Amino acid sequence: MSRTILVPIDISEMQLTTQVIPHVQEYAGREVAMIHFLAVIPDHSYFAAYGLEYTTIAPERSQREANALETLNELVKQFKLPEGRVKTHVYSGAPKDHILRVADQINADLIILASHRPSMSTYLLGSNAAAVVRHAKCSVLVVR
Ligand code: ADP
Repeated sequence: MSRTILVPIDISEMQLTTQVIPHVQEYAGREVAMIHFLAVIPDHSYFAAYGLEYTTIAPERSQREANALETLNELVKQFKLPEGRVKTHVYSGAPKDHILRVADQINADLIILASHRPSMSTYLLGSNAAAVVRHAKCSVLVVR
């Protein structure tokens, strides 16, 4: 069976990415799969980083997306997957909305994500992970 897998990546949290690598490799090796990686740039991130002056400092959205795509492509190399099986996507907005939308669009069979940031240890599931588990139409593998 050929599978389509979606792996949402928070490019600012390397540890979360490291956590999911062996799980993605396992699925990739087991079946012929197309693996889509998705990074979403939250709308508020530049505002949070730079405060009120963000409008003058923040790069244009297209520039931010280009930078994020470059970072994502670099990260994806660590998964050591065959190039023909990998696609990368970047969008700006709410991570959970784009994760669910792209899952539908690519007809994903499985979404693989990490449960939450290590610093948020009191939560069992982060807000994006929780929304994806609740609303996704396909199976979701939550890596702890
Ligand atoms: P926390 O609230 O602790 O950050 P999240 O639910 O946001 O937890 O993160 C869990 C998982 O959700 C991440 O491992 C990642 O797969 C996905 N995720 C979170 N933020 C993003 C983002 N900006 N882009 C893509 N995926 C994301």
